[in-house]
Amino acid sequence: MEYDNLGFGTRAVRSGHRRSPEGEQSEPIYLTSSFVFADAAEAAARFAEEVPGNIYSRFTNPTVRVFEERLAALEGGERCIGTASGMAAILSTCMALLKAGDHIVSSRSLFGSTVSLFEKYLSRFGITTTFVDPCDLEAWQQALRPETRLLFFETPSNPLTELIDIAVLAGLAHDHGALLAVDNCFCTPALQRPLEYGADLVIHSATKFLDGQGRCVGGAVVGSEALCSEVHGVIRTAGPAMSPFNAWVFLKGLETLNLRMRAHSAAAEELAHWLDGQPAVERVNYPGLASHPQHELAVRQQIGFGGLLSFEVAGGREAAWRVIDAVRIISITANLGGARSTITHPASTTHGRLSAAQRAETGIREGLVRVSVGLEEVEDLKADLAHGLARD
Ligand SMILES: *Cc1c(COP(=O)(O)O)cnc(C)c1O
Repeated sequence: MEYDNLGFGTRAVRSGHRRSPEGEQSEPIYLTSSFVFADAAEAAARFAEEVPGNIYSRFTNPTVRVFEERLAALEGGERCIGTASGMAAILSTCMALLKAGDHIVSSRSLFGSTVSLFEKYLSRFGITTTFVDPCDLEAWQQALRPETRLLFFETPSNPLTELIDIAVLAGLAHDHGALLAVDNCFCTPALQRPLEYGADLVIHSATKFLDGQGRCVGGAVVGSEALCSEVHGVIRTAGPAMSPFNAWVFLKGLETLNLRMRAHSAAAEELAHWLDGQPAVERVNYPGLASHPQHELAVRQQIGFGGLLSFEVAGGREAAWRVIDAVRIISITANLGGARSTITHPASTTHGRLSAAQRAETGIREGLVRVSVGLEEVEDLKADLAHGLARD
């Protein structure tokens, strides 16, 4: 808390760490499942939550707590709860805040597992979801029902980089007595802080840019003390807690987050402009381009434009696959958010299970290629993409 009034980069490096008497410079990793009490009375007091302190690492762990305090400080939330994965963060939030009979209105441009969680699993417990076009405000309004309790979206979306106005949707949710949760995985707090625009909860897959180097799976929920303590109740009871080792890796990731997100954004912006000038490329989706339909919103709502872009090549799947198969540096994988650039063909991978009609409706065309721009030299990335874009 002592750093809370200091700059973002300072908080990213220092928040949450209180040096132990050993005087360590880097945060220690508390790899212990349980904690020992001085006597029976102390054990009783901790279990009764009369005194703060650790009991068991499913409940709390000192290394995880440093991560939680640091991410809370970066998002501007009262509290953060670390989770075993991004999906565990979404599941725990829904379990904590919803009950049978409740309804979710969600953007349809969502991470695939989130769609499955809502559609296939939560529905079994009586929680239903209506999916809407993220850019159609009227569709959001019309989907609201008396029992709607949660609005949920990612902005920008993946792979099309559609933006949603967080403040407008927060107003809509609150007028209706519902909560707004924003999955801030692609921007991270370095580029976008949804709580400042009225969101109630921020969800993270720490697996992506927070780690930034593709090492660990983890997640987080950030928001008010009241909401997060509900989420923590589910975590400590049901068990999808963050591992202390992973928390430590994410702490190292957070220390460079500010620098990395600026570098990812700068490289992606340059690559987007370059792709825009390639004759084989029909369209580039990147919020930093003036041609992006929501460029103005991106300038207003985001601090930078991020590391994700997609583009459409003329010639459909065959041409898209040609670009992908010609790369020598960029990794062919659906993962994203790391130092290594990745390339993927959404229509046959991440969105392959959608029907052709669903893909057409959501704009995932056969010629679409998505790139998560890493930290390699941007000139090398251009050259790598140029192999498969060349017309013979
Ligand atoms: C990866 C991802 C998730 C899921 O996170 P995991 O850590 O893989 O469980 C959720 N939302 C978005 C936007 C993601 O990209």
